[in-house]
Amino acid sequence: MSRLSSDRCPCGSGMVFGSCCEPIIRRVKNAPTAQALMRSRFSAFCVGDCDYLLYSWAPETAPVDLELDEDLRWERLEILSTDEGGLFDQSGTVTFVAHYRARGSAGFQRECSSFRRHEGRWVYVDGEL
Ligand SMILES: [Zn+2]
Repeated sequence: MSRLSSDRCPCGSGMVFGSCCEPIIRRVKNAPTAQALMRSRFSAFCVGDCDYLLYSWAPETAPVDLELDEDLRWERLEILSTDEGGLFDQSGTVTFVAHYRARGSAGFQRECSSFRRHEGRWVYVDGEL
């Protein structure tokens, strides 16, 4: 689960973790766009960072507590499309497919996620499967 800053970022950007999602997960900087936030949340699922997942969740939809399935390993993220969610937007959506492996078999989840700004930073609101 642990990942070095010099490792490839789990979100599949092609950059190293330390200059992609890691500073966002560690709250050194805010995700500039909804897509960057979505990527950082995927990476947080990969490294098992529940605190960051809750932090980046809109207060009105966030679960009180979060427990990740230890047997489920997120492997690859494909961004299909984005709508708004840019530097000057207040909301936006990202449609993606997230590939995982659970108990030996591969699967995927396709979702259209909604994001909005909360106190200036992007947060995840909810998703439609
Ligand atoms: Zn990344």
